[in-house]
Amino acid sequence: MQKAKLARKIDADHQTIVRLSDRVSVGGQDLLIVGGPCSVENSVQMEAVASRLAVSPVQALRGGVFKPRTSPYDFQGLGVEGLEILAAVRDRYGFPVITEVMAISQIETICQYADVLQIGSRNMQNFDLLKAVGQVDKPIVLKRGLAATIEEFVMAAEYILSHGNPNVILCERGIRSFDSYTRNVLDLGAVVALKQITHLPVIADPSHAAGKRELVADLARAAIACRADGIMVECHPVPEESVSDARQALSLDAMAELAESLRAIATAVGRTIPFKAGSLPRLSLV
Ligand code: PEP
Ligand code: MN
Repeated sequence: MQKAKLARKIDADHQTIVRLSDRVSVGGQDLLIVGGPCSVENSVQMEAVASRLAVSPVQALRGGVFKPRTSPYDFQGLGVEGLEILAAVRDRYGFPVITEVMAISQIETICQYADVLQIGSRNMQNFDLLKAVGQVDKPIVLKRGLAATIEEFVMAAEYILSHGNPNVILCERGIRSFDSYTRNVLDLGAVVALKQITHLPVIADPSHAAGKRELVADLARAAIACRADGIMVECHPVPEESVSDARQALSLDAMAELAESLRAIATAVGRTIPFKAGSLPRLSLV
């Protein structure tokens, strides 16, 4: 890891805290819990997600509007309409919102709506895209490539850092292996290693790793137990009807329950999950 000049941890206290909004950050004492659907589908769906998660420990919303789908015939995302829906729930409930950017041409538009940009696994080594988000004034969630080594992952972060953006959150989301029972293998060894090697916040996405909803909660808890700085989990008002990644989606109640269950583990590893004040809908007084 010699070449990782900027991502490398200098000493044990070297830790970057990335701010997602005025109230939400990751890398410090508080754990970050991100929930939301794989894809933004419509405003009724996102209103249901946000209103339920507003009264849970979840602090940030996710939702894809430009979707990297294996088949070109599958739902590709709502695009700008989806960004407008995300921004509406953000404004109403006060959640920072995270969405994926797949191309340099989308950056400017996404930045007008989202708080955090996600670089998906399939683009982890899209070096031109990494350089471009390095010039953006928003935090980046960088997901580990499907078959990327830890060193390649850190060097991808180095691209963003070296182009001027210090706010990178690493996301372990599972890597390919031989076993098709799980979609991918959640590499908790990488979480531990990345926490030792880099000063960047490290979160885990057990949804894309497991691929099956019944595996997600325990993997999320395991990630927090091994000192991940947070989790990102897919959930949906009617999980079986999700337009993408239905098999791994949690119900909103299961998401809230998972978030609550992390408190005991957080305490055990010296972390906290903030109790939310003021996260209920911002009702306008007329
Ligand atoms: C996602 O988060 O919706 C996604 C597509 O994840 P990944 O890039 O990890 O497959
Ligand atoms: Mn997904």
